[in-house]
Amino acid sequence: MRIELISEHASPLAPLGGADAGGQNVHVAELATGLARLGHEVVVHTRRDSPELPPSVRAAPGVTVEHVPAGPAEPIPKDDLLPHMTEFGDRLAVRWGLERPDVVHAHFWMSGVAARRGLRDLDVPLLQTFHALGRVKRRHQGVKDTSPPQRERIESELACGADVVVATCSDEVRELEEIGLPPQRAAIVPCGIDLDKFAPEGPVARCGDAPRILSIGRLVERKGVDTAIRALAEVPGAELVVAGGPAHRDWDGDPEVARLRAAAAGAGVADRVRFTGQVPHDTAAALYRSADVVVSVPWYEPFGTVPLEAMACGVPLVVSAVGGHLDSVADGGTGLFVPPKDSSALACALRDLLSDPRRRAEMGRAGVRRVRERFGWDRLAAQTEAVYQRARTLHRPLASTGGKP
Ligand code: UDP
Repeated sequence: MRIELISEHASPLAPLGGADAGGQNVHVAELATGLARLGHEVVVHTRRDSPELPPSVRAAPGVTVEHVPAGPAEPIPKDDLLPHMTEFGDRLAVRWGLERPDVVHAHFWMSGVAARRGLRDLDVPLLQTFHALGRVKRRHQGVKDTSPPQRERIESELACGADVVVATCSDEVRELEEIGLPPQRAAIVPCGIDLDKFAPEGPVARCGDAPRILSIGRLVERKGVDTAIRALAEVPGAELVVAGGPAHRDWDGDPEVARLRAAAAGAGVADRVRFTGQVPHDTAAALYRSADVVVSVPWYEPFGTVPLEAMACGVPLVVSAVGGHLDSVADGGTGLFVPPKDSSALACALRDLLSDPRRRAEMGRAGVRRVRERFGWDRLAAQTEAVYQRARTLHRPLASTGGKP
């Protein structure tokens, strides 16, 4: 098949750890290469956000990334991208007029808007993966949510209009059914990870003897890094390594970095928290292996790649009992669940694990098994391919699903 993935803000070629570059970038990159390994020709369309980017890059055998001009060729926060989706969609329509895709799979709601516009004159199956839902974000972030006001309405239209919605966890399917997704059009394919890159064996980025707790991910408030910092006050002797956020040279003036530093000073743990800044994805595994426990306690989490990476490296977890974590982590088996925003519960779980090396080792081994059984990209690419075949049988013309959002 000729498979076209749309990922308007999250390029598979972008460095990770910035405010808008995380799990979706990894997901799209790995899905594309996994599908290409199955023999498909895959094209990823992402917005051209720098004048240096060439129109098209051969990213891997069978995978081409096309940089679509839509709005100025400069970084734009994803919440400001909606006005450029008309141009994005029109460019896709021209492109697809020349070379017709067999299947289009949109990633994130705005890609769905562009994809529907691009497909308006074509009869091609359309799949949608949301990665995050506006209604969940609004629920947790309230007035701090900077999403465009139309987001929830458009997501509901996209959920009802797609041939199949590929959710990443059961909690997301529940949310989608509440906004009108017919159950027969829902599929679950979790996010996966590169099992060659993330494995227990390999280099270890370690210095010092203190028990090490690792937090890795984008530095945005909802990731709950401040909860981990406050918990550290109740975990004597341990160090907390906080990886992610801007590269070190861009730290001055970053409000989230300032907030977390103030939290560390306020909790009296500034000398035990080490901020590394953005870590290249290729070196993340060595950092995971250096940790005794990985902590991931966001307020909500559409999926969460970090717990998979930790398990794959054989490191036990403490995670918040939210979203995708509920499917990916086995409570008591590969990690411990705590409520979000509860630093005392987190500290208690961390003390339990740090005081019990045998339990940590058992959990680490169970994590490796779980990830290898369920979350390798070859397996997930094959599952996605089967969903594409299902979408072809369930396909109905776009006009019959309410036209363009
Ligand atoms: N990541 C990284 N370097 C960093 C911070 C994060 O490579 O400095 C990677 C991390 O290893 C994971 C991804 O970014 O693969 C974060 O994905 P997740 O699904 O956990 O969170 P998201 O950013 O999508 O909300």
